[in-house]
Amino acid sequence: MEKVTQLDTFRVISERVGRFDVQGKTFLIPEMNRIGGHLLAGVFRGFGINSKVMETYEGLDLGKKFTSGKECFPCVVTLGDILLFMKKEREKLGERFDPENYVYFMPGADGPCRFGMYNKYHRIILDSMPGLDKVKIAALNSDDAYDLAGLIPKEKMQDFRKAAYLSIVVGDILDRLLWRIRPYEKLEGETDKFIAQAMERMTKSFTKHSPKKDFSPVLGDLIEIVKEGKEIIDPKIPRKPLIGVIGEIYVRTHVKSNQDTIRILEKYGAEAINASVGEWINYTTYDQVRLAKIALRLNLKRLRLKEVKESILRYLKHNLSLFYQYMQQRKVYRMVWKYIDIEEDHKIGHLERVLKKNNTYSFEVGTEACLSISSAMELAHQGYNGIVNIFPFTCMPSNLTSSVAKPLMAELNVPYIDVSYDGSFLPGREAALRTFMYQAYQHFKIQGRP
Ligand code: SF4
Repeated sequence: MEKVTQLDTFRVISERVGRFDVQGKTFLIPEMNRIGGHLLAGVFRGFGINSKVMETYEGLDLGKKFTSGKECFPCVVTLGDILLFMKKEREKLGERFDPENYVYFMPGADGPCRFGMYNKYHRIILDSMPGLDKVKIAALNSDDAYDLAGLIPKEKMQDFRKAAYLSIVVGDILDRLLWRIRPYEKLEGETDKFIAQAMERMTKSFTKHSPKKDFSPVLGDLIEIVKEGKEIIDPKIPRKPLIGVIGEIYVRTHVKSNQDTIRILEKYGAEAINASVGEWINYTTYDQVRLAKIALRLNLKRLRLKEVKESILRYLKHNLSLFYQYMQQRKVYRMVWKYIDIEEDHKIGHLERVLKKNNTYSFEVGTEACLSISSAMELAHQGYNGIVNIFPFTCMPSNLTSSVAKPLMAELNVPYIDVSYDGSFLPGREAALRTFMYQAYQHFKIQGRP
């Protein structure tokens, strides 16, 4: 038997995890945020790429079977998703099943966090299964602000990037619409049904209009949905305590992984708002601008002219992207605010200033902790009635967030709770959330809401 060396393993990882042309393939997207993932798949289809959002969480047992228990929970859930998808596809297609037809999308992140290793680990597991070594893994990384180069043809890239970003913003808005309407719905269950239909409608809209460079029909559809959604609200129900949700992006956004925490909060009298996915995308772009500025200063100091030029170009490129993202995001939110008061997204520069002013943490350290800590402080200052930090059990940045944010919230007299998840059901978790909501209600009675 041929001996597989460590070097072989690294070679395989670099060859089959990366940027691949996905045209002509089935592009598999794992579900994180239910709405946004489907809208993004709609954009891909609009650009001629057969894209699917995989069924999620049903393969958790498979994910657990091929992990040791030490991995981050999102790594286990997403591994289960791809393994189950492949199993079902093989059963469905029989002889016609060809693993080379699939590209599995698993982005990464730079820095001390383990997110960057998920796709490598998934590669190793897929390689250990008959035929699945042929399934490619498309990986984009936060260290270049999820640049799409190499994934789709160069000439389509700019248009695709714009449409993809808009799909993220629209996904965030539909989520916010859900959280704004559901606690005040006239008929129980109406909002969930409405949002599920809205998601389908917007997915079709993105598929149809994305490549045309004119997003007005997409935004027109969104506004129609917002107007219809507003009608679900019963104006007789008074506003409720406002709860801000922060934490690790996957678990706080993936409803099944967090056992629908927002619904539980609503059950005990909350109106809750989760941090958006757009915030993370804006953060990765913002961080590139920040790093380019640092590099520029350093190169100027050392008079390295070639590098100075490179850092200026890098700075301009990312700054332009950030400017576009903020402009587009603001434009869509403004359109929606004409009809309903959903919460705004924080600007990343503002969050960095919040941290600097209080000298509590630094963007230099990175990870999601810099967003979560600053967001918790900002929400507390805005007058939110409570903060919930949702994260995977053992998540490093989220534990860091907890150690910094918890005492700060105590100082500010703002109710705060950590809730971690690893797939198990803790009998006391709902009781803890209920107690938290009692505290939030006391805060609300005294201070009101923003
Ligand atoms: S953010 Fe937490 S869950 Fe995600 S990779 Fe890092 S340590 Fe793991």
